[in-house]
Amino acid sequence: MSGLLEGKRLLVTGVLTDDSLAFSAARHAQEQGAQVVLSGAGRGLRLTQRVAKHLPDPPDVLELDVTQPEHIATVRAALERRWGALDGIVHAIAFAPAEALGGGFMDAGWEVVSTAVEISAFSLKLLAAGLRPLMVAAGGGSIVGLDFDATVAWPGYDWMGVAKAALESTARYLARDLGPDNIRVNLVAAGPVRTVAAKSIPGFSLFEDVWDGRAPLGWDINDPDPVGRACVALLSDWFPATTGEMLHVDGGYHAMGA
Ligand code: NAP
Repeated sequence: MSGLLEGKRLLVTGVLTDDSLAFSAARHAQEQGAQVVLSGAGRGLRLTQRVAKHLPDPPDVLELDVTQPEHIATVRAALERRWGALDGIVHAIAFAPAEALGGGFMDAGWEVVSTAVEISAFSLKLLAAGLRPLMVAAGGGSIVGLDFDATVAWPGYDWMGVAKAALESTARYLARDLGPDNIRVNLVAAGPVRTVAAKSIPGFSLFEDVWDGRAPLGWDINDPDPVGRACVALLSDWFPATTGEMLHVDGGYHAMGA
């Protein structure tokens, strides 16, 4: 039996450690037959290169800091030389300065807020626009971003929540503009998983304490696997008519009133 992603050529961003949600997506993607290239940013690039070796088929790692527009052009050129086309992208990139998190919502200034929005939301547009020609060359494809449901306010999440709301809206507009190219754009709204990014959010433990009890399916904050699997499903040909969607992978937490 062939894999769900047999022959697909994918760029997976945001693999920083073995715990990264994107690491799980990359591992499952390879197991389902995809060819994968990773990208890493800044000081984390070395970590990405090291962690890449833990994947079943250690992939190449390209440098891609979304605040450096020239990096997107370099990545596009590298993928063009390698494959000439691209079937999918995993966007697993988020960052907010400490002042934008942890209860200082009323005090955070535009400088820190704009950084959060640029890296966590606008980067989805940058990636999609920069790599669109390669996805058109593939006859279309799938872009999957990682979200933390921003339709409500959370303790401590503050301006990252606002950045995620921008990500959700960006995904819908990209779905509109890229649909004619047969490019789907969807988000996985994940429950909390203990990654480097999550641990940097003051008050994250508040989520940890309640999530498992309230989610009807239960929730393991140490297990990125359900999120990785969902990314693979959305990258596959089994969601051909789904775009602009936010798929909750949270044990059902979002659907419960209390
Ligand atoms: P992670 O392992 O820490 O990954 C976050 C990634 O974002 C890192 O690889 C980081 O690279 C990258 N990044 C930050 N600034 C960047 C930049 N300027 N350019 C390119 N990449 C940059 O944490 P994660 O939890 O798996 O996060 C992946 C995604 O899942 C994020 O969008 C996050 O918001 C989302 N998410 C996480 C949870 C959760 O509970 N963990 C829940 C819902 C959604 P560097 O560190 O090298 O900068």
